[in-house]
Amino acid sequence: MARIVMKFGGTSMAGIERIRRVAQIVKQQADGGNEVAVVVSAMAGDTDRLVNFCREASSLYDAAEYDVVVASGEQVTSGLLAIALQSLGARARSWLGWQMPIRTIEAHSKARIETIDGEALTAAMQSGEIAIIPGFQGISKAGRITTLGRGGSDTSAVGIAAAVKADRCDIYTDVDGVYTTDPRIVTKARKLKTVTFEEMLELASVGAKVLQTRSVGLAMKEGVRIQVLSSFTEEGAPCADELPGTMIISEDEMETDDMESQLITGIAHDKNESKITLTRVPDKPGAVANIFEPLAEAAINVDMIIQNVGREKGETDVTFTAPTSDLDRTMQVLADAQPDIGYNRLISDSNVAKISVVGVGMKSHAGIASTMFKALAERGVNIQAITTSEIKVSVLIEEDYTELALRVLHTAYGLDAEDAA
Ligand code: ASP
Ligand code: MG
Repeated sequence: MARIVMKFGGTSMAGIERIRRVAQIVKQQADGGNEVAVVVSAMAGDTDRLVNFCREASSLYDAAEYDVVVASGEQVTSGLLAIALQSLGARARSWLGWQMPIRTIEAHSKARIETIDGEALTAAMQSGEIAIIPGFQGISKAGRITTLGRGGSDTSAVGIAAAVKADRCDIYTDVDGVYTTDPRIVTKARKLKTVTFEEMLELASVGAKVLQTRSVGLAMKEGVRIQVLSSFTEEGAPCADELPGTMIISEDEMETDDMESQLITGIAHDKNESKITLTRVPDKPGAVANIFEPLAEAAINVDMIIQNVGREKGETDVTFTAPTSDLDRTMQVLADAQPDIGYNRLISDSNVAKISVVGVGMKSHAGIASTMFKALAERGVNIQAITTSEIKVSVLIEEDYTELALRVLHTAYGLDAEDAA
């Protein structure tokens, strides 16, 4: 017997038919003698619809009222799942964010969880009742509804799992696990049996969209074991325990042979970055601070940075990347700061993509980056910027080469599945 938190995403909850299937999967887990809590997303597309209503009502909407509106999608699906479970003869009830409660900071539309009171929930689960929790929502100190940012139900699920000390947090989604790379692009992509928290954190933050990045950080901090698996299984399919997806675990739990045989775990891509270049910036102390301070004040997330080799006369070019959704603001901030910075031209390019190879195996092996550079060079793919961390190498390339780069690197690191075409 185990205590399990199950989380179902928007596509799994899209419509009564799918909710019925989810109810079967949940009941199967409970019938196996497990204590079960379920965290649900809104039906796919509903949160977008609710966000648009707010924007239509006023372009300057109040973030607290926005939360009241957008949190409602999950309230609907949690109630519907409880009804569907009851109709299968199971005991189930919903627990809204304010009922537990899930306390968050005040920051409406992007709140963080502060504490979750798991006591009543645990008691309910122990009594054999299935607890259903709408993801994404919490309550502020002022007693108002908050939401955790788009994709936040994953973070709710991990938070609940930590609060009730669950043995496992199963995240059911429309893919059946974490892959070596995007299987829609690379047909030879393989499903991974295990990924470490650190690797998943890097993969999620560089474009692998399986989990909200924050949820992985929280799982790592709280030591919550996550399993990613698909809810799109046939009726009568075996339980999650016999149908494992990808387990996200700590490096210590990883079997050593797994770790050493595999240099690279996954390759992610991100087309939502833009490249910005400032030419002829004075090459003197404080110049770079003059560029990045106003961007930080505007809460623009700068990622890759390169300062080119100095030109003559004490000048240099500075290039960096920022999210394309912030590109207009970035250009505006830098235009306003031109007198302070003292650059000559400001150039932007959104036709770029960031390709990242990630793996804990990098810690103990040399030559990972050079394999990447060589494989890309052989296919004529030019590298515009590079960043590295202990377990990641990222390069910026022209966006049109994304698919080619993913395929070439997947082969170069020996990740191709043997049985695929
Ligand atoms: N429904 C919310 C969203 O779409 C939260 C979630 O599903 O994770 O962002
Ligand atoms: Mg999601």
